[in-house]
Amino acid sequence: MIFRQLFDQQSSTYTYLLADGDTREAVLIDPVFEQTRRDAALVDELGLRLLYTIDTHLHADHVTGAWLLKNRTGSQIAISAASGAEGADRYLSHGDSIAFGARQLRVRATPGHTNGCISLVLDDETMAFTGDCLLIRGTGRTDFQNGNPHALFRAVHEQLFSLPENCLLYPAHDYRGLTVTSVAEERRFNPRLGGELCEDDFAVYMTNLGLAHPRQIDVAVPANLKCGVAASDPSLTPQSEWAPLTYTFAGIWEIHPQWLEEHLQSVQIVDVREPDEFDGPLGRIPEAKLISLGSLAKRAAELDKERPVVTVCRAGGRSAQATVMLRQAGFEDVANLAGGMLRWRAEGRVVENGSL
Ligand code: FE
Repeated sequence: MIFRQLFDQQSSTYTYLLADGDTREAVLIDPVFEQTRRDAALVDELGLRLLYTIDTHLHADHVTGAWLLKNRTGSQIAISAASGAEGADRYLSHGDSIAFGARQLRVRATPGHTNGCISLVLDDETMAFTGDCLLIRGTGRTDFQNGNPHALFRAVHEQLFSLPENCLLYPAHDYRGLTVTSVAEERRFNPRLGGELCEDDFAVYMTNLGLAHPRQIDVAVPANLKCGVAASDPSLTPQSEWAPLTYTFAGIWEIHPQWLEEHLQSVQIVDVREPDEFDGPLGRIPEAKLISLGSLAKRAAELDKERPVVTVCRAGGRSAQATVMLRQAGFEDVANLAGGMLRWRAEGRVVENGSL
C-alpha cells in the first residue's frame, strides 16, 4: 500500500493519500482547497488514479478540496449522510466500506465534534483516520455544529479505543506538528478522556475549554455544505494562460519542450548554465540568453517582466531554482523547461552550436 501524510500549514490540516500499489487506485482523506494543485501533482507523479475524496466531517476551519479534485481528476466526493452536505457522489454511513484496489476503508460513525463525523479504519485495523474526533492527546471541540461531549466520549471509547492496541491513529489536525499516535497511547495518556476519566469528567472539561470562534467558520461551513464548489478553479489553472504548464509536487511550474519549440519567439529563454556549457557540445536553444544561476539575482533586471520567461539548464535542476529566484524577483510568468537540454536534445529539437 502507498501511504502519504500531507500537511496544510494555514489550517494545520492533515490530508492522507492511500493507494493500492498494484492497481494504483487511490483515495484522499480530507483534502484542503488551497492544496489541490499539490495533491493532484502527487497523484500524477505517483501514477495513481484517484477514486474518491473522503471528508471525515463538514469542516469549519478550511474549505474542502473535494470539488476541485473532482473537476481535475474525476474523483467521486464522499462524505457522511449525517453531514448535511449537498452535491456529494456518495453518502456514507456506519458500516460502509470504500474500496481502492484490493484495500478497503471501513466507516465508523464517531459523532460528537459534529453530528456527521466519521472515522475511517483500514481493512486490517493497522491504521485509522479519526478526523476531528480523536486528536493526538486531545479531541475535537464540541461547542458548535451540533457538537456533544457525551456523544464524543462514547464514540472514542466504543469505536476507536476498541481497535487493536497497536492500531495507528491519524488525526485531521495537529497544532504542534505531531503526526501519529496509537490506540494504546491514547487510551492511557489522553488527558481529556484516557486513563480512568469518565464521561462526566470529559463533559465538564469540554464545557470549560473557552475556545475562540474559528477564524474561517463563516466562509468554510457554507462552502463545505456544497462540498467545496467554487465559482472558478483558481488553484488548478496556471496563474496565467500564457502556456500549458504542469505543476510539480516540488512546487515548480514546468513547460514542455514541444510547446517551447513551437513558441520560441513568444518567450524569453534564459539559459542558467555556465558559459563553457552554453558553448559546449549540448548546444543551446536558439534565442537563449546566458545568465548563469550565480549571477541571476543581480542580472534579473535585464529581463522584461511583461514577457514570459522560460529557464533552461542541463537537466532541469538549476533552472528550477532559477524559476524560484525569478518569482521572488517579481516575475509572474515563469516556467522551467522540463528535463533541460538533455531532454531537449534527446527529443531531437532545434539547437544552435551543438556538436553531439
Ligand atoms: Fe473539524
